[in-house]
Parts: sequence; structure tokens; C-alpha cells
Amino acid sequence: MPSCQLTSKTNNADPDVLVVHCSDHRLQAAFYEFLNLKLNLNENYDLLVLPGGPQCLTLVEYLPKFSWAGWKWVRFLVDSHDLKRLILIQHQDCAWYKDLPLHLHSSTEPRSRQEEDLRRIGQTLRKERPELALELYYAGWNAQDEITMDTVSA
Ligand SMILES: [Zn+2]
Repeated sequence: MPSCQLTSKTNNADPDVLVVHCSDHRLQAAFYEFLNLKLNLNENYDLLVLPGGPQCLTLVEYLPKFSWAGWKWVRFLVDSHDLKRLILIQHQDCAWYKDLPLHLHSSTEPRSRQEEDLRRIGQTLRKERPELALELYYAGWNAQDEITMDTVSA
């Protein structure tokens, strides 16, 4: 495709939110809807999209280089944009978790493992960045593929 003109323009408003979620194609529209229409972020947030989403922030013992990179990116965005709020989202049937050793979590149940990771990240952030407001969510769906976003307590 040669170059094409877009209708979108750069957003020059300062963001105050960083969102970290999975790259799974099945949920991108839902993530966008949740962030922009339910949380009213109005497309004004920094975004890290990675397989497993925020899970990379817990890998210090199993995959330390992944953990290092994840925290490096989070700290870079928070510091360079003076962000105040961090939104971490996990989701049902995340393929990334299927390759993780079971001994990394206290449960073998997938959702429990993901929520445990969200809480671990929360513990780290409360020590390292107590000024950051943290929101944790879990996206799941029913037999009709209707998606619900649940709040996870930190
Ligand atoms: Zn995933």
C-alpha cells in the first residue's frame, strides 16, 4: 500500500494513565470499548500490549529479562509522562499462561493464577510507587461470547 491520508490527528493532551493488557486479538475491541467508553479515557492513555499483558511484571525469578524489560517500560512511561494511574487487565483463556510452569502460582486454576499475578504487581507498586492509583481488571466471556470486565481487588 502506498502512503494514505488518515483522518486521525495526533493527540497532544497530556495523558495520566498507563494501560497494560494482552495482545490477544479476540479482546482488542473489548479493551478499546472498556477503556474509552466505560472508563472514559477518550483515547488519551499510554498503552503496553504484550502477550500475557501485565504478567511480564511478575517474572523476576522465571524470566528475569522479561521482568526487567516490563518494569523498564512501565517506569519509563510513568516517569516521562508523569502518569498518575495504572490500569492492568488480564483475560480469560490467556494462551500466555498455558506455557507458564504451574509452580509459579499457589493455584492451578487459570483465573486464580492471573489474579494472583495482579495482586503481586500491586504489592510491588504500593512499595515502589505509592503515588500511583492502581486498577486491576479481568475480562471474561460467556457462551454467547459476551464479555464482562470484572474489577479485581488489589
Ligand atoms: Zn492473553
